[in-house]
Amino acid sequence: MALWPRVLRAQAAPRIVIVGGGFAGGACARALRAADDKLAITLVEARATYTAPPLSNGVLGGIRALSQQEFGYDRIAAAGIEVAIAAATAIDPQAKTVKLSTGDALPYDRLVLAPGIELKFDGIKGYSEAAAEQAPHAWTADAKQFELLRSQIAAMADGGTVAIVAPANPSRCPPGPYERASMIAHYLKAKKPKAKIVILDAKDTFTMQRLFLKAWQELYPGTIAWKSLSDGGNVASIDVAKKSIETDFDAYEYAVANVIPPQRAGKIAQLAGVVDRTGWCPVDPVTFESSLQKDVHVVGDASFAGSMPKSAFSGLIEGKLAAAAIVRLLKDETPNAAHLASNCYSVVAPDYAISIAGEFAPLNGEFTEVDNSIRSSPLDAPPAVRAADAKKAEAWFSAATKEIFG
Ligand SMILES: Cc1cc2nc3c(=O)[nH]c(=O)nc-3n(C[C@H](O)[C@H](O)[C@H](O)COP(=O)(O)OP(=O)(O)OC[C@H]3O[C@@H](n4cnc5c(N)ncnc54)[C@H](O)[C@@H]3O)c2cc1C
Repeated sequence: MALWPRVLRAQAAPRIVIVGGGFAGGACARALRAADDKLAITLVEARATYTAPPLSNGVLGGIRALSQQEFGYDRIAAAGIEVAIAAATAIDPQAKTVKLSTGDALPYDRLVLAPGIELKFDGIKGYSEAAAEQAPHAWTADAKQFELLRSQIAAMADGGTVAIVAPANPSRCPPGPYERASMIAHYLKAKKPKAKIVILDAKDTFTMQRLFLKAWQELYPGTIAWKSLSDGGNVASIDVAKKSIETDFDAYEYAVANVIPPQRAGKIAQLAGVVDRTGWCPVDPVTFESSLQKDVHVVGDASFAGSMPKSAFSGLIEGKLAAAAIVRLLKDETPNAAHLASNCYSVVAPDYAISIAGEFAPLNGEFTEVDNSIRSSPLDAPPAVRAADAKKAEAWFSAATKEIFG
């Protein structure tokens, strides 16, 4: 009789709860399912439809439809993963439960948090969740924000200015604001050739800067002005009623403003107690287990994964690595350290993309760039090279979304 409860415990399938069904959480759920068909896996996701951000700037450029970015969770459920369309509202790491907006509480043996980012609306004076209804950020998996920005650009008069407010690092998708400027310029070139774009930046340099600046000169001469931090680009305040922005040095009137505020880890990570003073979640680079809470793993943009960029490409790999580590930990085996590759594409025009790739490995507790591994596209390259990168960007997106949602 004394052995009976222990036998029951040994037979019970370990329960893994994953919060967030984007690139990181979705990849983790699929990899766990593929690795072990006995695990009880629940994916908690607030929205029934995921709007994937990679390539979404193409929607603003008029070269993609929003529907090409949208994915549902039916195939994930069909693969044998319990899908709960609900928001996780609280986590009790001692009782090991996740509370949902439905009132249910899910017990877990291991929890994976993949909530992406939270926008710091108070990071810019005059900006707020309400102001984002007039000056959209379009920076999360929220389709309404993309649609709002797209329709504002379509409705603006020729000759108007689109202001893009770009955040300091670290933030989601470092090349994203510049890819966005390129795609909007592509649209304006055909539809509103007198319109201009100004990027008001909280940074002095940005990734693939020389490649972007060269491409803008070639493809959109005179359309995009980039104001760096030192050149007065840092935004002090916005007045969405007056459609004006004040920077440290100047004032700008705009027709459309796309405000990308500073960011931190998604709110549920804060509620779980896995966020540190930086606003992000420190993790072990082998298991992605939180350094602050046992049996809680954090993957994707919410985690602080050393020099790994906050990208869907990284999130997908992190989700898979965490899954592999969890499977081994549940068997009391030592997880394997991995050497990672990251590749980020930016589409500057149809058939014209640039990219930056790098390799990363765990060193002294965090992912560190492997020496001399960062490579960007060549500055001078024939059109065929740019066109090949554009094809690779599409191919990656299609393979990644198929792996998760297909
Ligand atoms: C315009 C743009 C272009 C980009 N282009 C690229 C690119 O070309 N290549 C690339 O690699 N990356 C790109 N990125 C970055 C990429 O989109 C992110 O790095 C990636 O989405 C991060 O994945 P994630 O799973 O961590 O977060 P997300 O994709 O944001 O997913 C998080 C999910 O968690 C859910 N969630 C959050 N909190 C809760 C909760 N409490 N309860 C339930 N569900 C919750 C959200 O609804 C969401 O679905 C781009 C980003 C933007 C904005």
